[in-house]
Amino acid sequence: MEPMFTPALHRQRHQFVIDFVKRKKPKKVLDLGCCECVLLKQLKFHREIELLVGLDIDGVQIKKKMHGLAPISTDYLQPSYDQLRIELYQGSVTEKDARLRGFDLVTSIELIEHLTLADVELFSEVVFGYLTPEAVIVSTPNSDFNPFLPGLVGFRHIDHKFEWTRAEFKSWAMKVCLQYGYEVELTGVGQAPPGQRERVGFCSQIGVFHRLGGKERYNMFDEDAEDVFSYTLLYSIIYPSLHDNNILRRVLMCEVVYWAEKLKRRWIAEETGERDDTDYLCQAEGEGGECFRASERHVDTEETQTAACGAEMKTLVDQEEEDGELFWRHSQPDSDKWRRRVSVPLAVLWCCCPKVSVLSGSVSNLRLLLMDEPGVKLSQDGSAMLLNHQEQDLDDDDDEEEHRADLEDSPYAEARQCPPSAEPEEDWEANV
Ligand code: SAH
Repeated sequence: MEPMFTPALHRQRHQFVIDFVKRKKPKKVLDLGCCECVLLKQLKFHREIELLVGLDIDGVQIKKKMHGLAPISTDYLQPSYDQLRIELYQGSVTEKDARLRGFDLVTSIELIEHLTLADVELFSEVVFGYLTPEAVIVSTPNSDFNPFLPGLVGFRHIDHKFEWTRAEFKSWAMKVCLQYGYEVELTGVGQAPPGQRERVGFCSQIGVFHRLGGKERYNMFDEDAEDVFSYTLLYSIIYPSLHDNNILRRVLMCEVVYWAEKLKRRWIAEETGERDDTDYLCQAEGEGGECFRASERHVDTEETQTAACGAEMKTLVDQEEEDGELFWRHSQPDSDKWRRRVSVPLAVLWCCCPKVSVLSGSVSNLRLLLMDEPGVKLSQDGSAMLLNHQEQDLDDDDDEEEHRADLEDSPYAEARQCPPSAEPEEDWEANV
């Protein structure tokens, strides 16, 4: 049988909420009767939301899929400044709980028809009179539409206690508005066949309520709030965010190390006339061309950027040290291996990598952060980062081992695994 609605009706109801969220950008959103968290899973991608909460009386339903709300690896690898906490509670909408007060948006999608009429009264009191959110979206079946649903006898679901006509829904909505100080707009999703739209309305009727009097009204109610906690917390997760200092530091270090290494190699390549083959390393090692250069376009952009910065690095340093000695130091002059050290001025690093400048704020902040990093060596005056570079005499196996060990011990070992900030996500499957 052809589906009656495209997209499916439940998708249209959730899309209605998502469109509202896109327009109004609420920070705190509560979904009542969240069931298996389908709507919450879509809302978590709207990162203007800082607190996303679900409530359902049925803990088993919540637990079934709640782990799908956890952050994914990219949330950890490339955290943003957005903050997001997700909480799931088991409890009834007929009972109060102070933790759910003061939200910007409360949604109740196909929930109220599962309550007795007496419980709908309690629902109205709890949601509009106690939780007092700025906006509420309530959806419920429109029984005027039922004759158009093929084969339907009785209610649309076995657990429904009632299904309201448009007039009944309107009468409840108006009463709530008068009693608790809201205004409502009545609409819906799921269009009737052409020619019948006026007469029967939408398949799912929706009321969008807005609290009159804005934020002040909530504060007024706040004074008398009872501190009741009747719900059970089942799940709580905080998404990684750059507002967390440890995360900020880790991401910044990855960027700094990546760019400092890049600039160093660029500079060495220019000085020695050797090709900077960092970006081809993977290709050289990969058997049968399995591993390709990360992303041609991206690397080209980076090449231009590091080339420009390489020149800048030279200019900056040459101003201080005419012969450029600052770049190359023989730290082990007696040894048969020449260890050289490349100095990358923090100012250059800061200018070259937009993410480093955004994350650190200023060159002096960057210096302070790097001073605390045990694996980072700064020049005496703290104006540059000093990076080891070993002379290319690695034919000998021992040297090679040592060189490898050097890299593994260095703080850059981790950074070598860090993707550069601007790198687009790759679909490797599609590239093969
Ligand atoms: N909102 C979801 C699911 C609707 S089904 C969606 O859009 O798909 C109705 C849900 O309301 C069920 O998960 C049911 O467990 C929940 N429910 C029923 N009575 C409830 C109550 N008193 N308090 C909280 N949730 C309730």
